[in-house]
Amino acid sequence: MSTLFTINTCKTFGCRNLGRPTSSDYSWPDYRLGYPALHCRACGSYPPLFDEQKYSEWLSAHLTSYAAERGLFCPVCYCKETICYGHNPQGTQRIQCRACKKVWTPKQQLRREMVSPERIETVSLIVPFQGNSAEQKLYVLLSFDATRGNILHLSTNFTQHQIGETLHYRWRGNIEPDLHHSDIVKRVDMRETQFLRRSQFDEIQYGSAVLKRNAKGAILRPVIAAHGHFRVLNILFPEVKTHVISHECFLRGATITAWAELFRQRQSELWFIEEDISDSDDNKPWSFQGTTYHGWWKNQWQLWIQEKNRKMVCSLAGGDNSNAQTLSLAASRLYIHWLYKQTTFTHSAQLSAGRVTQILHSLAQSYNYERTVTHSGD
Ligand SMILES: [Zn+2]
Ligand SMILES: [Zn+2]
Repeated sequence: MSTLFTINTCKTFGCRNLGRPTSSDYSWPDYRLGYPALHCRACGSYPPLFDEQKYSEWLSAHLTSYAAERGLFCPVCYCKETICYGHNPQGTQRIQCRACKKVWTPKQQLRREMVSPERIETVSLIVPFQGNSAEQKLYVLLSFDATRGNILHLSTNFTQHQIGETLHYRWRGNIEPDLHHSDIVKRVDMRETQFLRRSQFDEIQYGSAVLKRNAKGAILRPVIAAHGHFRVLNILFPEVKTHVISHECFLRGATITAWAELFRQRQSELWFIEEDISDSDDNKPWSFQGTTYHGWWKNQWQLWIQEKNRKMVCSLAGGDNSNAQTLSLAASRLYIHWLYKQTTFTHSAQLSAGRVTQILHSLAQSYNYERTVTHSGD
């Protein structure tokens, strides 16, 4: 049974049901935590339930349009095995799926295979757009090849597709404040407290995001956008050894669900990371300072120091502790620094959510292109 559309599942690392769509250990809906949840008796967890049907409808539309546009996998069966299949009358390359024989012409001709990353680094970013009023906010997810530094995939929570009510982001007027505590250990702890204050762990309130009146499309709950984001990445790169994610609990859930099979076989690692970098050129070795435990799940975090720099890392799944030292969010830091120097981006706050999404995509392409040009020269 394909688990491509599975979202209501146990998300506990080490549980035999991780990522499984059905199990005799499941019962639902369970309201013990105040929201409808799936109860997994094998590990005792209560992951929140989603509207699986609406999610599947949205995800299949999302995967199909992504594939039709880029040609990296089939828009019908999502198979990656494709062959070049002549050209259309305008001279653009057509592609055929080896599995279902579907023939299509991707809008973007970038079939050059991306190199499979060993380590994927994923962070979120909030960017402004013009909606019903100024200063509306989009939730953006960026994934990088942590070694090569290029962007592998980018999503915003704007979708051009029709979505059910249950997938809509609802702003309730109370933003989670940015955490500026100078002590990184305290900051990790405060962040965990923020998760607990949410109506449910995955229900982030990141700001208002009302589209222009009569605008096409919709704003997704960030947790839904995250599941869609990692599903695309998982089709592109089914084998990833290490995932590094910024400190957000639903990024954990979405990553572990998308690669559940690898995590069940303990073939993959997943880490949270929080950084305080004042000198990014420092190459001295990191030194381990000790461990602390934080949050509802009592996760173990390690504190590492490199002169003025600090980082906290937390293994969420199968982490080999000797890797902790090498983990960072360096690829995303470099990109975000670059992004804020691009005037098309800094001037985009007056544009619609759909337009800002397009601009982010084209900037990501330019960034990747710049990197290949510079790198082939050295
Ligand atoms: Zn479980
Ligand atoms: Zn196909």
